[in-house]
Amino acid sequence: MLAIEVANAKKTYLNKIVGIENVSFNIKYGEIFGYIGPNGAGKSTTIRALMGCLKLDSGLMNIEGHDCFTDGVNARENVGYVPSELSFYNSMTVRKYIEFIMDLKGRGYEKIDELCTYFELNANRKTGELSLGNKKKLAIVCALACSPKVLIMDEATTGLDPIMQQKFFDILQKEKKKGTAVLLSSHNLNEIQRCCDRVGIIKNGNLVAIKEIGEFKAKLMKHVVFETKYSLPDIYLDGIENLKVDGNRYEFNYHGDMKALNDFVAGLDIVNLSIVDVDLNEEFMRWY
Ligand code: ADP
Repeated sequence: MLAIEVANAKKTYLNKIVGIENVSFNIKYGEIFGYIGPNGAGKSTTIRALMGCLKLDSGLMNIEGHDCFTDGVNARENVGYVPSELSFYNSMTVRKYIEFIMDLKGRGYEKIDELCTYFELNANRKTGELSLGNKKKLAIVCALACSPKVLIMDEATTGLDPIMQQKFFDILQKEKKKGTAVLLSSHNLNEIQRCCDRVGIIKNGNLVAIKEIGEFKAKLMKHVVFETKYSLPDIYLDGIENLKVDGNRYEFNYHGDMKALNDFVAGLDIVNLSIVDVDLNEEFMRWY
């Protein structure tokens, strides 16, 4: 059985505004699926429909074999959810709030301390006093504490500092190993490529591509900078873009064969060399 199944899903608002037009994808257990697109592309519409907050105009959305709208209780039985917009009961403490969610989900409290410690979240603070980053951590802890089989996370890392982001990605890998299916929406391709197995790219309500992340990265351009001892008469190499020459310093983007680049560089009197993936977000925008 698939963890998440979405087929030809369509949702319009007020009968005219396209939320999603024709979206299809599946997520297996033990897979992290990145769902990426710019603001207004339809990510939250997809996720709200999965969470049963919206009724589709047409198409299908199932979680663990149950229809998300007509059989929502069963569909969300094992789902941990991090919404993009957070609101809590402000006067409750962090601990009380998580316990409240565990009660609603019919789960025990045994993971609360460990997760709060891991995310450095003070369980005695009132939720209304938390910073945005700590509110995000609280939402993540709630999602993880209920031992989910499916995690649905809408812009989960917004507001987290880089150390917390890393901790978040580490714990996602642990969940993956346990067999949890993860849907992670984001408008940031850099974070998607850090942890996802596959990525779905949504644009104007349509999935324009679904790719293995390795396949996506393999096609990424490299940014090459090198300095030579002597200046070069010219550079003969297929796949070079935006060549900039400053004295003996050469800088360009490269989308050609890596062996050809390697052979080319090996024949030079190199002083300095750097070859890195171009910024993924830059590449993502180019893709669009
Ligand atoms: P994303 O999450 O990728 O930023 P959304 O799913 O929020 O995108 O939005 C997709 C489209 O649906 C946008 O054009 C947005 O303006 C529209 N939309 C979203 N929510 C509503 C709503 N409640 N009423 C009307 N239009 C909406």
